[in-house]
Amino acid sequence: MSISLRKLAARLIAAVMTVSAVTAANAAALEQPVAVLSSSLNASVGTVLTSDEVTTAAKAYSRAKADAEAQARAAAAVKAAADAKAAAQARADAEAKKKAEEEAKALATLITAPVAARSVSYSTDYLATDAIKANATALGNYKLTFYCPCERCNGALGVSKTASGATPAEGRTIAVDSSIIPLGSRVYIEGYGTFIAEDTGSAIKNSKIDIFVSTHERAEELGVQYANVYLLG
Ligand SMILES: [Zn+2]
Repeated sequence: MSISLRKLAARLIAAVMTVSAVTAANAAALEQPVAVLSSSLNASVGTVLTSDEVTTAAKAYSRAKADAEAQARAAAAVKAAADAKAAAQARADAEAKKKAEEEAKALATLITAPVAARSVSYSTDYLATDAIKANATALGNYKLTFYCPCERCNGALGVSKTASGATPAEGRTIAVDSSIIPLGSRVYIEGYGTFIAEDTGSAIKNSKIDIFVSTHERAEELGVQYANVYLLG
């Protein structure tokens, strides 16, 4: 066998060994490349290789091994990044699902729980959630005014009963245009919470709602506001 053929054979065997060793992730082969290579080459080629040939083959092996290891590290980095992304997505999905469930539960409570009388004032606790926006009927931005039972707010007799016959209560009673919002409807006023459409008023037409409060002082204090209004299912 000529020197050049022996060199070629040595390189081929080195390449085959490298690929098989790395592919099989054979740690022992990777630990002892030169020893394994020398004996295999000598056995295969049928004669003793020169130290230069062994060195050349060993270098080729080392380069191939380093390349394979670099590729393995790169692949591991890509996989780690993909795993991290998938985990982040799974966490985000779980959080979104949890939030949607909580919002659906809160919406069900708004629709079914009694509307308790409470002091009317703006609160960010009453901002419309995604569930409200998705499931209630958005009526648009309304002009809010405030009224109390007094004669100034209601004419000579004042008010003791609403148009629907209920005794008005702050935090529950609102006056609406009943051609848009039927009396008895549950109405969510963003920033103010849930009310019942119980009253009407000659000046309460279209996108206007009059919110009942217990004293004239509070009605004046609250003045005029604007808010998004939703008709709850
Ligand atoms: Zn008044």
